[in-house]
Amino acid sequence: MQRNHTHDPAAASWLPTANMAGGDFPIQNLPFAVFRRAGSDEAFRGGVAIGDQVVDLAALAASTGLAGLAREAAQQCARETLNEFLAMGPKAWQALRHAVFALLEQDATPDMVSIARGCLVPMDTVEYALPNRIGDYTDFYTSLDHARNVGALIRPDDPVSPNFRWMPIAYHGRASSIGVSGQQFHRPMGQAMPPGATAPVYGACARLDYELELGIHVGVGNTQGQPVALAQAEDHIFGICMLNDWSARDIQFWEMNPLGPFLGKNFATTISPWIITMEALLPYRQAWTRAAGEPQPLAYLDAEGNRQHGALDIQLEVSLQTAQRLEAGDAPARLSRTSFRHQYWTVAQMLTHHTMGGCNLLPGDLLGTGTISGPSPDQAGAIIELTRGGTQPLTLEGGSGSPEQRRFLDDGDSVIFRGWCEAPGAARIGFGECRGTVLPALGS
Ligand code: MN
Repeated sequence: MQRNHTHDPAAASWLPTANMAGGDFPIQNLPFAVFRRAGSDEAFRGGVAIGDQVVDLAALAASTGLAGLAREAAQQCARETLNEFLAMGPKAWQALRHAVFALLEQDATPDMVSIARGCLVPMDTVEYALPNRIGDYTDFYTSLDHARNVGALIRPDDPVSPNFRWMPIAYHGRASSIGVSGQQFHRPMGQAMPPGATAPVYGACARLDYELELGIHVGVGNTQGQPVALAQAEDHIFGICMLNDWSARDIQFWEMNPLGPFLGKNFATTISPWIITMEALLPYRQAWTRAAGEPQPLAYLDAEGNRQHGALDIQLEVSLQTAQRLEAGDAPARLSRTSFRHQYWTVAQMLTHHTMGGCNLLPGDLLGTGTISGPSPDQAGAIIELTRGGTQPLTLEGGSGSPEQRRFLDDGDSVIFRGWCEAPGAARIGFGECRGTVLPALGS
C-alpha cells in the first residue's frame, strides 16, 4: 500500500469541524464504526467519522453518491455488523475510503456536498455497537517492558520467560464478554490465594486492574491449514482500535499456572467503537528494530517490509475518572502515557504467528496486542505496574476534593484510553475514546 492523496496533510473538508486543530477525525482519518441514533429503535449500521459527524453508510449506499466497488462496499456496511465488508478485502476498503474522501473534501461539487450532507448524523447524538460479530478473540503478550514489570512480581528470579523473545505469546480469550466503549461491568467474584495463606479464599476481586492495549480487527481470513506469510500479513488486517483487557490480578495469579489466564480475564473486555484503517495509519509507520543483545527473529517472523515499516507510532494515554471527581466536576486524572512503537513484536508478526500452525482466522476476529508499556516506569499500561504490585499507591493529581489514592481500581472508577498519531508531513488523527466503568460486585 502506498501513501496517496487521502494522506495529504493539506487536504481539508467542507465540514468546518473536520479541519479543527487537534481533532480526532479530520478527512485523513475516516475510521469505521457501527452506530444508530441513541435511544432509537433504528437498526445499527456502519458509519464513517468526519469532524463531529457520522456519515451514515446505509444512507450513502442508498444515494447516488457512490458507484462501482465503493457502492458495493457501502451496501455491505449497511448491515448491523461490518464482517461482510471486512471480508471484501483491501481493494474494497480502499475504494470506499477514497469515495467518501471525494464526497467530503472541500473541492467536492455542490451536488456531492448535498448528497453527503444528507447522510450526516451528529456524533453527539449516536450510540455504538460492536463493529463486528467477533467469532474468536486472542490476546497477545508482546511488550518486553510489561513482561519485565509484571514478571518481576510473579517470578522475581526469571521475570521474562525464555519463549518471549522468540515468538509473540498469546492465550485464547473470551469473545462473548467484549463490549464497546461505555461498557459497565460488575467487579468479578472469584478464588484467590492471599499472600502467606495456606488455602484460597472466595470473594470479590481485591486487585482489579486495566490493561492498555490495541485491538486488531482481522479483515480477510485464511483457509485452515494455509498459514499467512509475514509479507502478506497486513493484507488480512482491516484496522486497529483501542482495547482494555480488564484483569482481576488476584484471581489471575492464583489460577494461571499451568494453563494460562481464565476467570481473571474473561468477565469483560472493552474496545473503542472506531476502527482506524491500516490505510489511514500509513504515515505513522516506523522501522522495526531489535535492540543490541536481543535475538533476531526466526525466518518466518522476518521480512524486509516488516523491518522497514513494521512499527506503528500510536500515542496512547490512560486516565482515571473516580466517583468523587465526577461528583465534583473534576476532569479525569492522567495515569500514564506511552506509544505502541516500543512493542517487541509487530501486528504483522502476531497475525503470521497465529496462523503458522494452520489456524484459520475469520473476518471480524479480534487480536489484542497485549499490554502496551514503554521503557520508563511512568509509561506503564497497567496499574499493577504503576503501583509496583500495589505496594506504592498512586496519588491522583488535580482533584478539587480530598486527595485520592489508588493501589488497584475502586468501584465507580472509569478507565479512559485516548489514542492519536502525529508525524512530520502528516495530519494528526485520533482514535476517539475507550471508556469502561467498574460496578460493585454482585453476590458474595
Ligand atoms: Mn492482556
